[in-house]
Amino acid sequence: MAVKDSVIPFVFESMPVRGALVQLDDAWQRMRDGHQYAPPVMDVLGNAAAATALIAQSLKFDGSVTLQVSGDGPLRMLVMQCTDSLDIRGMAISRDVVEGASFAELVSGARCAVTVDAGAMERPYQGIVEISPESLTASLENYFAQSVQVPSHLALVSGDGHCGGILLQQMPGEKQASEDDWRRLAYLIATLRVDELADGATPNLLSKLFAEDDLRVFSPRSLRFHCRCSQSKVEEVLRFLGESETREALAEKGQVDVTCEYCGKTRSFDPVDVSRVFAARVLQRSNVLH
Ligand SMILES: [Zn+2]
Repeated sequence: MAVKDSVIPFVFESMPVRGALVQLDDAWQRMRDGHQYAPPVMDVLGNAAAATALIAQSLKFDGSVTLQVSGDGPLRMLVMQCTDSLDIRGMAISRDVVEGASFAELVSGARCAVTVDAGAMERPYQGIVEISPESLTASLENYFAQSVQVPSHLALVSGDGHCGGILLQQMPGEKQASEDDWRRLAYLIATLRVDELADGATPNLLSKLFAEDDLRVFSPRSLRFHCRCSQSKVEEVLRFLGESETREALAEKGQVDVTCEYCGKTRSFDPVDVSRVFAARVLQRSNVLH
């Protein structure tokens, strides 16, 4: 069975550890359409996609997870967002990336945060991620240890055709996995290679990785690239920019083009559209007044 673009959750029968394996295929291609990412940036983007999906699949409520990196290094910004129903989107902006740049070079001086937005719940939770110069994997293990305080092991792989990863977490309770077992599991997931994910996230791959352990494997959940941008959100952006700025841009080109950084969709506004956008604002205001 083809299980590309999916997450497979599982638990270990003999110890209180749960896990999930993710593979992104079409979603990973779609995310890169229209972008020319330098290989080192693409690598981090693929790892970020897999990690964000792995965190999002564990949400127990309607919401989303956003991983954000920003800094003055070659990787200026990276944003990856995944909802609890596994709609993912993401992009990166970089400058002057040298060939073969290491993770440490890309993110020098960068800040990294994971925001969990629980929609209906009151306030989003933001955890600061202490960046480890070693890798995004090591950085996120810091996050799990410090912000979430759940002992976790993470493995992330990224390639041209697909990316993916595994997250293992100890379940709360009195019984704990033995230190030997926990160390052994870290070693096993670290052997994950990107080519092993060519057929997707498969139960076979899990049995191969954890040959000595009994696993209970749940049904795969599919994941897709989906951008939440919309006509009305873009109109909001224009209103935020202001009427005079928008009209200036309109005067230059005869129309205003707004391209979404995530999905590449361009929405054009001609003079009639621009008048409508700002007329709607007046209407909204009068609604508020009455
Ligand atoms: Zn979009």
